Amino acid sequence: MRTYVFNDLLKRVLMYNNYKLKHVINVTDVGHLTSDEDTGDDKVEKAAKEEGRTAKEITDYYFGIFKEDLKKLNIIPPDFWPKATGNIQEQIDLIKILEKKGFTYRTSDGIYFDTSKLSDYGKLAKLNIKNLEEGKRIDIKEKKNKTDFALWKFSENPGIRQQEWDPKKYGLNSGIGFPGWHIECSAMSSKYLGEQFDIHTGGEDHVPVHHTNEIAQSETAFGKKPWVKYWLHSAFLTFNGKKVSKSTGGLYTISELEEKGFDALNFRYLCLTTHYRKRLNFSLEGLESAKKSYDKLRNIILDLRNKNDSKGSDEKYRKEFLSYVNDDLNIPKGLAVLWKVLRSDFGSKEKYKLALEFDKVLGLKLNEIKEEKIPKEILDLIKKREKYREEQNWKKSDELRELIRKKGYEVKDTKEGFVIKILM
Ligand SMILES: [Zn+2]
Repeated sequence: MRTYVFNDLLKRVLMYNNYKLKHVINVTDVGHLTSDEDTGDDKVEKAAKEEGRTAKEITDYYFGIFKEDLKKLNIIPPDFWPKATGNIQEQIDLIKILEKKGFTYRTSDGIYFDTSKLSDYGKLAKLNIKNLEEGKRIDIKEKKNKTDFALWKFSENPGIRQQEWDPKKYGLNSGIGFPGWHIECSAMSSKYLGEQFDIHTGGEDHVPVHHTNEIAQSETAFGKKPWVKYWLHSAFLTFNGKKVSKSTGGLYTISELEEKGFDALNFRYLCLTTHYRKRLNFSLEGLESAKKSYDKLRNIILDLRNKNDSKGSDEKYRKEFLSYVNDDLNIPKGLAVLWKVLRSDFGSKEKYKLALEFDKVLGLKLNEIKEEKIPKEILDLIKKREKYREEQNWKKSDELRELIRKKGYEVKDTKEGFVIKILM
């Protein structure tokens, strides 16, 4: 989810700069094997077997949860969600072009891309092919080069896999099977964005294999360079220094975090605090402190919304914010500008306006904060207390603070205004 929050920040920054966007998220619902080496089980087939459901039930179920989680994280949905299983013709068409151009060969288990025919193979990752070749210890079976990859995999025993296709029906004389996961991305991205497009994103782990292979096959098939102008990769979410995973730990779904009393937006706030190219070490304590900051922010915004005083011009901070988020998405510094505004001596109106404007990028739903958690009675008492404070009537204001406390709420005075805490 960190990668998707990063994508969303990129998208929002571009929108903030008035760019027109067309955004695609590819859905790999077939052909993603448990290993990057074109071996191992198909993840979907494996899950279907384990859970005793059909492949389609599995992908529909997880795709549904995925979309729900994106919504909770306030991630703007893409214009298109193409699924690999819905774009078989497009993938086979690409394989046909690659075959015609002489960049493929067939083995007993599939159709492979011959990476040795491409002089700039591996340029994205700056791969040292010679070292890779010399250092190879793993069995490459019938592959000609270690870096060659499958475009099409044949079913071992046709009729057993749930997701398999007969390429002959799509104009390719080849055995029944399923697409390799790299070709899915090339075919679907270019279907919606064209043979050359501007930006492709992903996690840092996709640089050496997946994205490298997407470039190789796309630039060869379409005959245009570069296929993608800008590649942006987000760094891992780590746990004790290692990528979060079932085995290292630190892996939670959004619903699991919710069960622990967090809101999905607490995680979004946490993501905003670290630059996308830096690894973000995840811990529940770290998330707890993000939650505290986010709650404080919401309370301040709520307070500002109810006030009407006006003072100051907002140009300086607006420019500062823009220059940070436009500097390779320096969102942590952008967030710091928001806090600077809230601590400034601006009027409440200006602070509120700027906060909502910055939130177009941050996506923290600052315009949707509801007051319902704090009853009107309490808010009235707080207002009364504020009045006493303005009059410097500390005795009365302390009495009211105590009364509010007895009713289960705590008012804290901070530099940015007061904060209301619900006492449990
Ligand atoms: Zn991909």
